Amino acid sequence: MSSRSFIFLYFNLLLFFTHSALAQKSDPSVVVKKAPFPVTIVIDPGHGGKDPGKPRGSASKKHEKDLNLDIAYRLGGYLSERVKNVKILYTRMTDKYVSLDERVKIANENNADLFISIHCNSSNNRSNYGTQTHIQSHGFNESRKLADLVEKQFRDRAGRKSWGVKDKADRRHNLQVLQYTNMPAILVEAGFMSNRKEEAFLNSGEGQSLIASAIFRGVRTYILEHYKPSKKGQQKFPYYKVQIMSSIKYVDPNSSKFKSVNRRIDVFKTDTSNKYKYQYMVGREYSKADANRLVQEMKRKGYKDAFIVTFSKTTPVYRSSK
Ligand SMILES: [Zn+2]
Repeated sequence: MSSRSFIFLYFNLLLFFTHSALAQKSDPSVVVKKAPFPVTIVIDPGHGGKDPGKPRGSASKKHEKDLNLDIAYRLGGYLSERVKNVKILYTRMTDKYVSLDERVKIANENNADLFISIHCNSSNNRSNYGTQTHIQSHGFNESRKLADLVEKQFRDRAGRKSWGVKDKADRRHNLQVLQYTNMPAILVEAGFMSNRKEEAFLNSGEGQSLIASAIFRGVRTYILEHYKPSKKGQQKFPYYKVQIMSSIKYVDPNSSKFKSVNRRIDVFKTDTSNKYKYQYMVGREYSKADANRLVQEMKRKGYKDAFIVTFSKTTPVYRSSK
C-alpha cells in the first residue's frame, strides 16, 4: 500500500515471531507451492491469559484459549511449510492476554495481507455442532471468498457440518477484529465445545489437524488463485467514524469524562493551525446508514455536535495520536 489513511505517531514495540523457527522437519511427500505475490498472514488465536474464552465441558478438557492456540500453531506450520512466499505472524504464541485493540494493531501496523482469527464455539443447545466463519460484510468480496473457501473445506474434506459464512447483519453485532482491520479478515469458529462429541474432537490431535488443514487448504487456494495486492482492503475503504469531541489539550480516552460513550474511542491529532488539535472519534462503519445510526447514538449519550468523518486511503489530515 503506497499511502495510508493515517499513521501512528506512537506505538508500542510489539513482539511477534515468524514461524520459521518452529517449522517442522520437512516431509518429502509434502507438496510445496509458491504464492504468486508475497503474502503476510496474521494468525490470531482468540482469547488467552486471564481470558479463557468459552467454557470447557470438564477439567480434563482444554480451555478455548488453548484449543485456539493449538489449531493456530498447526495452521501456521502448514502454511509456512507448504507455501513459499508467505510470512506468518501471530498475535500471541503463548498463553497471554492480548486486547482486541492490540490484535488489530498488529495486523494493521504490519500491513498484513490476510487476517485469520481462530475460535471455538459454544451453545446452550448442546446438540449443536459444526463450523462457521465470520466476516464483516457479505459485500466484502475478498473476505467472503476466503471464508467460502474455508467453509467448503470444512464441509467437503474435513466432514464437518458447515453453518456457512456469517456477516455483521447475520449475527447482529460487530466483531472488533473484523471491523477494524484494514485487510480481508475472517474469524473461524472451529466447532462447538458445548457438544460432548465435538469437544472431544477439538481436543484430539487428529481433530486439530483436520480443522487446521481445512483452514490451510482454503487459505492456500485463496492465495494461489485469487489474491492480488491491488484487491487488498479495497472494500474496507472508505469508512466512516463519528467525531464526538475535540480539545486543545489531550484527554485520556479512558478517563471518566467519556464514561457514557461505552465504546472504544480513537484519538487523532490534526496538523492544522486550529488550536483544537485533538479529535475523539468512535466506530468504523462501512455505510452511511450505520454511521448515521452511530451519530444518533452519540447524540443520545450527550454529544450533541457529533458528526461523521470519512476516511479514504488518501485522507491525510488525521493521525492517530496519544
Ligand atoms: Zn472465542
